[in-house]
Amino acid sequence: MPGMTSPRTHGPLWGVPVVPGVRYAPVIRPEAAPPPVPAASTPADPDAEATRFEAAVGVVAERLRGRAARATGPAAELLAVTAALATDKAWLAAARTRIAGGAPAEWATAEAIAGFAEIFAGLGGLMAERVTDLNDIRDRVTAELVGWPEPGVTPPDSPSILCADDLSPADAALLDPALVVGLATTLGGPTSHTAIIARQLGIPCVVAVAGLGGVAAGTMVLIDGTRGTVLIEPDPAAAAAEIARAESEAAALAYWSGPGVTADDHRVELLANVADGAAARAATATPAEGVGLLRTELCFLHAGAEPTVEEQAGAYAEVLRAFPGGKVVIRTFDAGSDKPLAFVGATGSDEANPALGVRGYRVSAADRGLLERQLTAIARAAEQSGAAPWVMAPMIATPAEAAEFAEQARAHGLSPGVMIEVPAAALLADRILAHVDFLSVGTNDLAQYTMAADRMSAELAALTDPWQPAVLALVAMVARAGRDAGKPVGACGEAAADPLLACVLTGMELTSLSSAPAAVRAVGARLATVSLAQCRDAAEAALASSSAAEARAAAAAVLEQGIRE
Ligand code: PEP
Ligand code: MG
Repeated sequence: MPGMTSPRTHGPLWGVPVVPGVRYAPVIRPEAAPPPVPAASTPADPDAEATRFEAAVGVVAERLRGRAARATGPAAELLAVTAALATDKAWLAAARTRIAGGAPAEWATAEAIAGFAEIFAGLGGLMAERVTDLNDIRDRVTAELVGWPEPGVTPPDSPSILCADDLSPADAALLDPALVVGLATTLGGPTSHTAIIARQLGIPCVVAVAGLGGVAAGTMVLIDGTRGTVLIEPDPAAAAAEIARAESEAAALAYWSGPGVTADDHRVELLANVADGAAARAATATPAEGVGLLRTELCFLHAGAEPTVEEQAGAYAEVLRAFPGGKVVIRTFDAGSDKPLAFVGATGSDEANPALGVRGYRVSAADRGLLERQLTAIARAAEQSGAAPWVMAPMIATPAEAAEFAEQARAHGLSPGVMIEVPAAALLADRILAHVDFLSVGTNDLAQYTMAADRMSAELAALTDPWQPAVLALVAMVARAGRDAGKPVGACGEAAADPLLACVLTGMELTSLSSAPAAVRAVGARLATVSLAQCRDAAEAALASSSAAEARAAAAAVLEQGIRE
């Protein structure tokens, strides 16, 4: 087909890895949406159009409700939301008004939905992700009106890899993992509904793949949901070798039980990010050696009033008791922006830019008592459980803030550190380290602030990718400051959950990696297959790159050579 990708002339297409696993199969694509409807030049008969419109909406809503009834778990919830959106009074009223004014049903549908999609997109975050649902409803209603086949995925007869711009929840939820063995999309981020459903179904998945639009149905591709690649028409023997390699890696995973070391015994502590005592106890079932980040704000997300010192001490002691004798790093409240706490008054709900507003440690400047009471509670929890937790402050921007926090924490007998999440703090990491005992790089926020891209935006997922060389350059700078000062520097953002990136961070000589407990085993097993020299070379190669995709590819090339001393 003209314009389609020709065989074996391309390297892999790169995207954001979401569900690990390697699969080799032909591509299928969803049935196209109906073409856009032009505006009519002569007014239509409002009564006839209203009848057509109501009938089409009725059919579409009924089909969607039927799909919701057949699905289970989060998929059923997502489908129920889409079905409810199909009969949402607001857009139906907007379309009916247009029909009453003489617009044909197709045009009224397109116009009404476009208006709401613009509002949702403007709201950003999770609301913006609903635009796909709205457009899906527009396409389904339009197809019904014009007699076009129902848009979406036709289940294949044999195992296939589904490639699409993005999937509607209605299509994603009903994928059969026995037949759709891989999933790649041009749009969407790691939190998009496609990603959520792929995780639920365990279908290897890569999102935000640039260049995927040119891959025609029927093309043989190799998808790698760990590296985030789609290889077009690879040599079949090479594809089989890749699948065998992935299978033996998966088998090795099952046996890896820690602690974190490279193949040549370079030690890296592998820790868990947890939200409360229950999560900490669950993390003890993984090879995590301790807790690298207790997000204390998540313990009290729904509290209407500030928890008392006793309540706080009880919650923190639960976490300390889950890892007796192990390392536990407690972060003081990171309130504001995406994590508003009802009892923290200093975070303004009227801020124009909450991510750049009074959040994290900045709250303490306005309400010193809040931090004082929390540090008292942490010290009490330490006493109750006989542990020696480390404490760190979020969103530190200057050495003066670090000094202030350190003084207050030391007054409670606690070992102080700070998170490096703001580029200004990364740039002055050496001066910040003069005041504190350790640093922990929060790559989620560091990527957001370095790239000036909202971490909640699926549309900007490629920019907030922690493989962005600018983000890596700042992490390397922080690691160097730690090495020079002889103080520990860890990472606790999502970057530490990516086995390949974990090797790069090890090469920069970060001393600990803390991630979602579910990711610890894969990270540890990967580290055990590489030497420190390889990790250093991988870090150097990634740092010398000009894009996230190039950095990932360069690091993968180094790390996939056999172990080298
Ligand atoms: C981070 O920003 O990387 C981090 C670990 O903190 P949070 O995700 O809680 O903002
Ligand atoms: Mg953060």
